Amino acid sequence: MPPTPTPPRGRFAPSPTGALHAGSLLAALGSWLFARHVGGEWHVRIEDIDPPREVAGAADAQLRALARLGLQPDGAVVRQSTRGALYAQALERLLDQGDAFVCHCSRSALAAHAGVHRRCVGGAPRRDPSIRLRVPQGTRVAFEDAIQGHVAEDVHAVTGDFVLRRADGYWAYQLAVVVDDAAQGMTGIVRGADLLGSTARQMVLQQRLGLPVPRYAHLPLLLDARGHKLSKSLDALPFDGTDPVAALAGAWLLLGQQPLAATTTDPRDWLVLASAAFEPGRIPRGPLAASHNTGDRDPP
Ligand code: GLU
Repeated sequence: MPPTPTPPRGRFAPSPTGALHAGSLLAALGSWLFARHVGGEWHVRIEDIDPPREVAGAADAQLRALARLGLQPDGAVVRQSTRGALYAQALERLLDQGDAFVCHCSRSALAAHAGVHRRCVGGAPRRDPSIRLRVPQGTRVAFEDAIQGHVAEDVHAVTGDFVLRRADGYWAYQLAVVVDDAAQGMTGIVRGADLLGSTARQMVLQQRLGLPVPRYAHLPLLLDARGHKLSKSLDALPFDGTDPVAALAGAWLLLGQQPLAATTTDPRDWLVLASAAFEPGRIPRGPLAASHNTGDRDPP
């Protein structure tokens, strides 16, 4: 029997560090549209593996906001805080293969090397070492991003040996995201361009773990009025829940889409129209000013 083709599947994976803001709304809608316009599934995963950065109640508030926007996930919401056994298994494999190593380097010792780890630089053994992935010279990654185009990175030069388990014992985002995207059968990763710099590392991990490589699309970055990344300015333009269709329509225009002639006030009806009208090729590379929303494409 021929193998069953993998159904298209995408996800929105917020960290519970604050309210759903304009940048995360763009990622939520963008990932939903990419999945749905080809009849695929869309999932939500709460990336709650960094308790020091977590804001109490943020995950539930994000889920309530998604529900008000009519963005209904297929299947149960997954929380990374419950999936440590999967990350431990992957880490074990990387250690066994000699791809990962225990590292006692302190942040201050690495500061002399621009914070990039290419070999251990000594210092006293720590009680709380981190575990890093070995990234030897010549480790290069290249891929076609569906929005940002050709991306190439010399991972050894740019990020060096990167952390898989932090010195404080928490899992690193890079390991958890790669393990989960594969375990959940994600075929397309749609997220903000602030994560474009992480993708090469994630591809190196996929290679070392023998995992399939999904297709990537990095949405334009939103900048606030002062030109700062919106995702980094706390609670920037939070969705207040009052007019979900207006919020969706605003994000839709930022994604370069043609205005929808929709008169509905039900976000679920609006989303059905949007998934049929969605044209991924119209999404600008960005960056975009969140406050000046013209819906125009960047000049080619
Ligand atoms: N949890 C990450 C964030 O909120 C996103 C991870 C991803 O989409 O890969 O920035």
